[in-house]
This record gives sequence, structure tokens and C-alpha cells, in this order.
Amino acid sequence: MISYWEQKTFYHHRHLIICGAGFTGLSAAIYFKRKFPGKDVLVIEKDPVNGGASTKNAGFACFGSASELLADLKKLNEEKVFHLVSERIRGLQNLRNLLGDENIGYEPLHGFELFRHNDGLYENCLDHLDYLNEKVRSITGSNVYNVADKKIKIFGFENVEHIIENEGEGQVDTGKMYLSLLQLARESGIEILNGILINRYDENDKCVILDTTYGKITGDKFLIANNGFASQILKDSHTIPARAQVLITSVIKDLKVKGSFHMDEGFYYFRNIDGRVLFGGGRNLDFETETTAELNLNEMIQAQLEKILHEIILPDDDFKIEQRWSGIMGFGDEKQIICKQISEGVFCAVRLNGMGLALSTLLGKEVAEMMG
Ligand SMILES: Cc1cc2nc3c(=O)[nH]c(=O)nc-3n(C[C@H](O)[C@H](O)[C@H](O)COP(=O)(O)OP(=O)(O)OC[C@H]3O[C@@H](n4cnc5c(N)ncnc54)[C@H](O)[C@@H]3O)c2cc1C
Repeated sequence: MISYWEQKTFYHHRHLIICGAGFTGLSAAIYFKRKFPGKDVLVIEKDPVNGGASTKNAGFACFGSASELLADLKKLNEEKVFHLVSERIRGLQNLRNLLGDENIGYEPLHGFELFRHNDGLYENCLDHLDYLNEKVRSITGSNVYNVADKKIKIFGFENVEHIIENEGEGQVDTGKMYLSLLQLARESGIEILNGILINRYDENDKCVILDTTYGKITGDKFLIANNGFASQILKDSHTIPARAQVLITSVIKDLKVKGSFHMDEGFYYFRNIDGRVLFGGGRNLDFETETTAELNLNEMIQAQLEKILHEIILPDDDFKIEQRWSGIMGFGDEKQIICKQISEGVFCAVRLNGMGLALSTLLGKEVAEMMG
């Protein structure tokens, strides 16, 4: 039974309620509160911290490797592909301006794409490198892609044939970034309640009524920002939960790996962090099992990650695997985010694919404008 005090304190009507304390939900809350300092904003999160992707991700501040952009160009027209690149670049700048480089642990260590087979992928990227540089130069003002085969030795890789470097990319410390966003939200007077699941919503001509595991809560406006879990509340969001597996090594003496690395068209990714290697990916080995919102590990994928670590990334180093985890992304057709008004009082900003670090604060800003 709910006490009088809980009813009075936690159940009162809010101006805006947001589902999901991820990068998107917290950013939207911050921008809305900046616009309307006098309005109450409540963020409801089902997990103790964040149960999706914002505290689980790899921290790549990236906007597209050569093979990723060429793969996108097979599915989408040129305008859409480079609009998305431009949004990711703008989004990264917005994130850095919002929180500050030091508060997100930003390191401009560049992105690197590894090619380990002579299967035509590298040759195709090489053939299109001038074109990609020209397109990205029109956004950033400088060329970013170049062949960097000399670095194979410097990084200490084995079984790698070629490297293409992206000088425009960097990395962030994801934990630091999440904490800074949380702190900014709290300092802005935003209320956050953890451990409450929103089951469904209803709407009448006066307000939006949320049915939660902690009772009914009402608001003028409701924003759904639960990314990979969107279809649990919005049945027709066409968002597929996509799980991703990650591991991190022990501290490695004189670690040579420095930067954000992609391999096999982005299906594998790794980086240095605090003298360790964080390595994730392998969804392509078992798409069916990994199409889930359950935060479990897939032993087969974890074994493959370890194998690649030993054979390619850290062939000469002594290390242990210290931690493993998974996170949930939200995927949809054509890498398109959904940011829209659903009804009078209900809005959504979901389905960030694998690009949320770059796009989420900008998306939060955009949806906050829409709700104003
Ligand atoms: C392993 C991994 C690596 C990644 N690496 C990168 C990377 O390097 N670079 C990059 O740009 N992107 C990366 N991403 C993607 C990026 O992390 C996401 O796009 C971004 O964090 C999405 O933020 P969000 O706030 O929209 O969603 P989330 O962080 O998923 O937040 C949604 C929140 O909603 C909550 N929620 C869900 N349903 C409910 C409900 N019914 N009631 C209450 N709360 C609910 C969830 O618990 C969750 O906390 C990665 C993702 C993963 C999983």
C-alpha cells in the first residue's frame, strides 16, 4: 500500500515525465528544463542506473568508417548517408559543448579500420577514399581518411593486412559521460526515480496517465526515450532490440593499442581505456539470439572475442579477462531515428541504432524543442 507521504511526494502531477534515464532521456530533460525552468520534469528509469546502452557502450566518438559508409550507400541514397554523417559530427560537438571534454574524458585518438582478409573490402574502400574524403571534407573542412598500414606494427597487431585511419574520430569515457549528464540533470532540478517500470500509458483530454510498477503517475506531457525497449510501450515503433557483447582485459604493460578500432565492417570494435583493451561485437555470429532485450552473455560470442584478442589484437601480451557485460541497442530500418509527436501529450525519441553517443544529446535538444 502506498502511504500518504509517498502519494503526496512522489505521485503528484508533473509537467513532463520521461521514460528512460539514458543519454537521450536525460538530455531531453536538461534542454526542456532550460527552456521552462519553472516546470517539473520527472525521469522514470526501470533499473538502478541505466538498463539499456548508455552505461554499457564502447565510448567511440565516431561518425563512420570507410566500409560503414560504403555499406550504408548500398541501402540509402547519398543525401541520407551524408546527412547522417553531418548529424553525428554536429552531435559530437553538441555533446562536447554541453558537458566539456574533461567531464566526458574526450580523447582525440582517431578511428582505425582494420582489414584482415584480402576479400575485396579494402580495395573497394581504397577505390572510394577520395570520394569519401571529398564528401566528409564538405562537412568538416578537411580530409579525414588515409591509409595507415605502417601503424599495424606500432599497434602490435597480427593477421592484419591494412589499416584506414579516420583522423576526425575520438573516444570518451562512457562512465564519466553518464555521471556528468546525471549530475547536470540533478543540478538543473530534474527529478529522477529509479527502479520503476512504466507498463503502459493512457491519455485523456487533461493529462497522460502512466501505469507503472509503483502505481499511477500523471503528467501534461510524456516522452518515451527508452530506445531498444520502445516496442514494449509503442507497439508500432518497428524497433528491434539488439544486444551487444563486451569484455575488458586486465591492465596490460606498455599497451600499444591506442584509439578506436573497427573490424569486419564494424561488427567488431575495440579501444584502449585505463591501460586495458575494451572489446565488443560479434552480433553477426548469432543474430537470432542477439535480437533480445535480455541482458545476458552469449558464450559462443564471448569465446570468439577472446580468440580474436589472442590472435589479432594482443598476440604478444599477457592479460586476463576481468569483466564481461552486454547492452541493448534499438535498431530499425535505414538507420533512421524516430523523433516525433505521437498524440497531443505524447512524444518519442527512440531507435538510435549504434550511434547514440554521437546523436543522443542533439536528439534530446530536438525533442525538447518539439515538446515546447
Ligand atoms: C555494447 C554497446 C556498445 C556501443 N558502443 C557505442 C559507441 O561506441 N558509440 C556510439 O555512438 N554508440 C554506441 N552504442 C550505442 C549507444 O550506447 C546508444 O545508442 C545510446 O546509449 C542510446 O541512448 P538512449 O538514452 O537512447 O538509450 P538507453 O541508454 O538504452 O536508455 C533507455 C533507458 O530506458 C530504460 N527503460 C526501458 N524501458 C523502460 C520502461 N518501460 N520503464 C522505465 N524505464 C525503461 C532502460 O532501462 C534504459 O535505461 C553502443 C551500445 C552498446 C550496447
